[in-house]
Amino acid sequence: GATIGILGGGQLGRMLSVAASRLGFHTHIYDPTANPPAGDVAHLVTTAPYEDNDALFAFASTVDVITYEFENIPTLTLDTLEDHAPIRPGREALRVSQDRLVEKDYLSGLGLRTADYADVPDAAALAIALTKIGAPSILKTRRFGYDGKGQMRIADPADADAAIAGMSDAPAILEGFVDFSHEVSVIAARGLDGAVACFDPGENVHRDGILHTTTVPARLSASQRTDAILIAANILNALDYVGVMGVELFVTPEGLVVNEIAPRVHNSGHWTQNGCVVDQFEQHIRAIAGWPLGDGKRHADVVMENLIGDDMNRVPDLACDPATALHLYGKAEARKGRKMGHINRIVT
Ligand code: ATP
Ligand code: MG
Ligand code: MG
Repeated sequence: GATIGILGGGQLGRMLSVAASRLGFHTHIYDPTANPPAGDVAHLVTTAPYEDNDALFAFASTVDVITYEFENIPTLTLDTLEDHAPIRPGREALRVSQDRLVEKDYLSGLGLRTADYADVPDAAALAIALTKIGAPSILKTRRFGYDGKGQMRIADPADADAAIAGMSDAPAILEGFVDFSHEVSVIAARGLDGAVACFDPGENVHRDGILHTTTVPARLSASQRTDAILIAANILNALDYVGVMGVELFVTPEGLVVNEIAPRVHNSGHWTQNGCVVDQFEQHIRAIAGWPLGDGKRHADVVMENLIGDDMNRVPDLACDPATALHLYGKAEARKGRKMGHINRIVT
């Protein structure tokens, strides 16, 4: 059978491997860290740095297509790999989503609404950006931020000095604070033939910067739901995208505002594992393998909840609930803030 190469062996890579295996594919995980969660379920694992050209070459020679579970893959790694096997989703999606400034420019270039934003190349530029964007606002590093890391909230212009003092040298952007009522996301897929299928938007609640729950159906009017799906389809088509993408949106009285995109399967799409016939992981594998997509139809109301750190203590009780599906990632240490698993609770 064909082999799918996956860059990154965390829980997303693990669940992608399981889905690929179910469709008869083999998977080959590439991850620099020892014993990645996906290693338990993949057919082959390479543990080597992303800069190791020999290891990359050997990896690429065993796979038919390459995908990834995170967007911060070094450019040089992609340069080496792309000569040997197709990379899906393609590099344009990575270029856009690796940098918050490029991403905001791209999305607003498509005519989509984003938060007001200003470039903050260094600490000195923050004062100027603040005069443009005002407060409340959020300073975010342009690259490598996730789970709310690399962000600083500026409640009041008087906080600017503290923010400058606390700012690393990393280039950043300042975003105006969006006064949203709630947050939703669309998990969207586009096939090799250009067909687009979206899952029903989910409503997301964060705790300490980390996704806590996703609930479907989200609180959206019929026109907001259509809008959300049209926004996602617009982005996927513009990027000539192949695979699954997460599109995070803020719901405001003035309409939907795009927060960020993730060119991969997404934590807020985990509910699809127990709410749809074809879940986001299988959908992604189908897309990158050139198969027809599932239609994304939802057959149940679901609440997905992340199990983070100590939440693992609840597993024995959760395992007794007949309406709850457990998904555990096989990570040894339940460190604070670490995503250990999630549950999908069917609501009737
Ligand atoms: P993720 O783990 O989703 O990749 P991240 O670290 O990339 O998160 P963002 O999604 O940009 O960070 O922000 C995290 C959360 O902070 C958002 O889901 C939202 O709740 C809040 N937030 C971010 N930007 C804004 C904004 N401009 N206005 C209001 N709230 C915001
Ligand atoms: Mg993000
Ligand atoms: Mg986010």
